[in-house]
Amino acid sequence: MFKALLLEKEDDRTKASVQSIDEARLADGDVLVRVAYSTLNYKDALAITGKVPVVRTFPMVPGIDFAGVVEESSHAEFKPGDSVVLNGWGAGETHWGGLAQKARVSGDHLIQLPEGLTARQAMAVGTAGYTAMLCAQALERHGVAPGDGDVLVTGANGGVGSFAIAILARRGYRVVASTGRSSEEARLRELGAAEVIDRSTLSAPGKPLQKERWAAAVDCVGSHTLANVCASLHYGGAVAACGLAQGMDLPATVAPFILRGVALLGVDSVYAPREWRLRAWASIASEVAVQTIEQVAGEIALGEAVDVANRLLQGEVKGRVVVDVNR
Ligand code: NDP
Repeated sequence: MFKALLLEKEDDRTKASVQSIDEARLADGDVLVRVAYSTLNYKDALAITGKVPVVRTFPMVPGIDFAGVVEESSHAEFKPGDSVVLNGWGAGETHWGGLAQKARVSGDHLIQLPEGLTARQAMAVGTAGYTAMLCAQALERHGVAPGDGDVLVTGANGGVGSFAIAILARRGYRVVASTGRSSEEARLRELGAAEVIDRSTLSAPGKPLQKERWAAAVDCVGSHTLANVCASLHYGGAVAACGLAQGMDLPATVAPFILRGVALLGVDSVYAPREWRLRAWASIASEVAVQTIEQVAGEIALGEAVDVANRLLQGEVKGRVVVDVNR
């Protein structure tokens, strides 16, 4: 038996409770992992509260990422005792995820825990930090460089935003953080932001073309914010778009693309190719200071996940939430 947060559908509502579950109920997979830590991402909060149909099949164990130790394996790359990390691949959406003491998955979806990181630190980084690194890599693949000008990060106090600030500042970019929580300005500056702006300056409908302000951007927010970001990128600039905290819509025009040659770079962490994952995690392990990782993360027990999921969607949680699934 193992402990897990289980989501069940009752009268069209999602019911979430911690339960003791028989290992035989785990789906097929060639690696059984003893989970040490998982996290609470925005998507997990949507799944747990049932606000958006993230979960494709019930009952479901949520948790789009986890770190732990291999207990059994018939996969060539992994043996019992290996420390591993999983991000995405449908965990917590189409098959049981990380908010549990055990997970059985395909070894093709795992990577070895990057050297220099503990399981807890890897989950403090989690899908948010890994996505922030994918965004930085997408911008640099496009040719963005530190001397080009200011780089905007929206949703700055969130998990992705916080790591994006730290990663870009460390790489020499001048980072401007956009937030709705000006009370957190000191924390954002400590992470590496050179300037902090109020997100209300970006969240209302704006003109199709605006003053060129940003060489590049990481956008966690979508909707009018992303439209305004596109409209205010430098000629030839780029935005790595990864989130929808303001909304799924994109009420934009093609003007920035056809008149300024700006690029809208989509970033997906769930099915990102293995080489990109390995590169992203290696860069995280070598570039992101442990102090930053610890600073960005708070920790909760499995039983607190439902309450914190609700608060996360209310915008009351800052940074990352690590879940110790064994307490
Ligand atoms: P968090 O909940 O930690 O952060 C989201 C942040 O967005 C908040 O902290 C807040 O920042 C800002 N925000 C919230 N509501 C609004 C609003 N109405 N208007 C403008 N800003 C808002 O989430 P994550 O950092 O984990 O994820 C950020 C986004 O990226 C989410 O939409 C998530 O689903 C997505 N995501 C996508 C991935 C992918 O693979 N593409 C992977 C991981 C996440 P502040 O308080 O500073 O204003």
